[in-house]
Amino acid sequence: MTQSFSNKHPLHGTLQKAAKHQPRKRFGQNFLHDSSVISQIVDSIRLNRDDNLVEIGPGMGALTEPLLEQVDAMTVIELDRDLANSLRIRIGANSHPNFTIINTNALNFDYASLYQQPSAESGGDEASTQSSTAGKKLRIVGNLPYNISTPLLFTLLEYSDIIEDMHFMLQKEVVERITAEVGSKIYGRLSVIMQYFCETEYLLTVPRGAFNPPPKVTSAVFRLRPHQTKPVVAEDEKVFALVVRETFNHRRKTLRAIFKQSSLMPTLTDADFDRIGIAMSARPETLDVKDFVALSNLVVAKQESGLNS
Ligand code: SAH
Repeated sequence: MTQSFSNKHPLHGTLQKAAKHQPRKRFGQNFLHDSSVISQIVDSIRLNRDDNLVEIGPGMGALTEPLLEQVDAMTVIELDRDLANSLRIRIGANSHPNFTIINTNALNFDYASLYQQPSAESGGDEASTQSSTAGKKLRIVGNLPYNISTPLLFTLLEYSDIIEDMHFMLQKEVVERITAEVGSKIYGRLSVIMQYFCETEYLLTVPRGAFNPPPKVTSAVFRLRPHQTKPVVAEDEKVFALVVRETFNHRRKTLRAIFKQSSLMPTLTDADFDRIGIAMSARPETLDVKDFVALSNLVVAKQESGLNS
């Protein structure tokens, strides 16, 4: 049985338009059509009217329209020119003066352009010319094409200081890995890197049937909230990323074995490991973000002392 909607359903118009657009595989187009899933996603974001909301890949507006009901201003970034145009016709003209459509690739977009510094002056005429989202960090939402998800997440992490939070739909397994707890079987590189920059939260599982066409995999929605102040800071984030990658490349091995074999890492002794309170017999999946930061800072110190000697 395919799902059907009654004519009275508020999404009926959207769905009729949906029928006309042929989903483009190269743009990773899987359109949400399950109204109960759509409202669960929108509700999970808990919007305020004055939020600075940005949607990436609005498609035919399945999320856009219900989101737009809850905020005064919204920007969407859509790569597909036909979809951007039909959104413009449908929503843009429809009494939403603060709805902005940007037809571009979300991977190359300058997100800082959407953040308006709050004006230093207070009161007076200045204040009245300021937009309602001035000084408001971005709240980003997206049912993204899964093929661009990892690079896009890494791009967005570079804008952490102007982002309040991000809600994305991705393949369920990837969301589980991002939000995994230390010690679990799926805890790995993505968990450590994402949790270094953000608080992560798994929100809901979305079955394949909620999309048209259905993707090959089950999806899930999650929240990333960039730490305003990082709980732990690596001295060199490149080294941190390298240590995380290199250790998880050998996740079954002990740290002793990994550091002994790696050509990319300095030799570490038992005494070195003692100093940071990590056992050489430990395996990578038992190290939390704080441990990885300590380990990478140790690697930095060793590299520097190696250079000096
Ligand atoms: N959010 C909509 C559409 C999901 S399909 C829904 O839930 O129904 C993914 C959307 O992302 C498509 O509209 C596709 O054209 C768009 N897209 C794909 N790559 C993109 C990119 N690099 N930048 C911006 N949008 C992109």
